[in-house]
Amino acid sequence: MRALKASFHSAAFSSNLARVKSYSPNSKVMAVLKANAYGHGLIEAARALNDADGFSVLTLSEAIELREHGFTQHLLLLEGFFKPYEVKICSLMGIGAVIHHAQQIDYINQVKPVKPIDVHLKVNTGMNRLGFMPKDVDLILKQLEESPYINKIVIMTHFSDADGEKGVASQLACFNEIKGIDIYERSVANSAAIIKYPETHFEWVRPGIMLYGASPFDDKTGNDFQLKPVMSLRSEIIAIQTLEESQSVGYGSVFTAPHKMTVGIVACGYADGYPRHAPSGTPLMVDGVITQTVGRVSMDMLYVDLSSLPKAGVGSSVELWGKGVLVDEVARQSHTVGYELLCAISASSRVPMEYQHG
Ligand SMILES: *Cc1c(COP(=O)(O)O)cnc(C)c1O
Repeated sequence: MRALKASFHSAAFSSNLARVKSYSPNSKVMAVLKANAYGHGLIEAARALNDADGFSVLTLSEAIELREHGFTQHLLLLEGFFKPYEVKICSLMGIGAVIHHAQQIDYINQVKPVKPIDVHLKVNTGMNRLGFMPKDVDLILKQLEESPYINKIVIMTHFSDADGEKGVASQLACFNEIKGIDIYERSVANSAAIIKYPETHFEWVRPGIMLYGASPFDDKTGNDFQLKPVMSLRSEIIAIQTLEESQSVGYGSVFTAPHKMTVGIVACGYADGYPRHAPSGTPLMVDGVITQTVGRVSMDMLYVDLSSLPKAGVGSSVELWGKGVLVDEVARQSHTVGYELLCAISASSRVPMEYQHG
């Protein structure tokens, strides 16, 4: 069996949740567990984050799975109902839903659920992805307030640029101008806003990436905010090659040895979720020492410079990312974000997952 596996440190989850609470001590925490908890495993993540006040997911089946595992927190479907039948199940299981377009209200009125439903009314304040226009919110709130099928209403929006230069000012101003908004609980801040914009915290915060120990900002690492990486992706060297000066390794011969050197072949490739676009020079650790990749990542393998590790050989341990090499650093080299790399590991379904408690 290949040695490649992803291990998850539950203690890091609790520590990151405590960081969220130290940034926003007066807000309830809706932990975002979509995409199989950003690749970390839905149920295991929920267990480790049991102190959160709520969990949000994308699909009804994820929410049902959480309820079936006994989680009693608030649950929220981030895109709400896709089909009317989902209304009934949410009502029976006490699952809340985002309402972001008028048809979702029609679904509720058609189904006439026995137990009224908790909703998060989503307002489009400028991201232009999901949500009602601010000018329509007044009327929709009236409808929802009068409906016998609606229980609690929270008002939410989502920022397009909380992690970037543009920031949140114009969207936040637009949100704050909504008529009558202050009588409702509000849910606005993602990880970047939790860290950078205290004025967005309100009654609920919605952290995702920071719970997993990675940075929401592409020029920073989780370390910069005292976040602890939850996932470690580890494997082993399965072969050693000696390159003479000007010989290459791997497809396309994109790396050429500047001098005679030893290269390790690592059991991990893009089919496992490691980014194919990671260039030569991307950091990784062999036997606890930081070195770098060379050549183009293949489907099942990648290559590592062992010039500084004369003792490394077949079976030497490799950390692709984790505590020694942060996923944020691999992401930066690969021109992507930690989010994508973490999600890709469980999406590949090829990497065994192991949980370390305590
Ligand atoms: C994914 C998501 C979040 C969490 O975002 P992070 O940047 O991972 O903190 C919050 N709110 C909504 C609506 C989301 O889709």
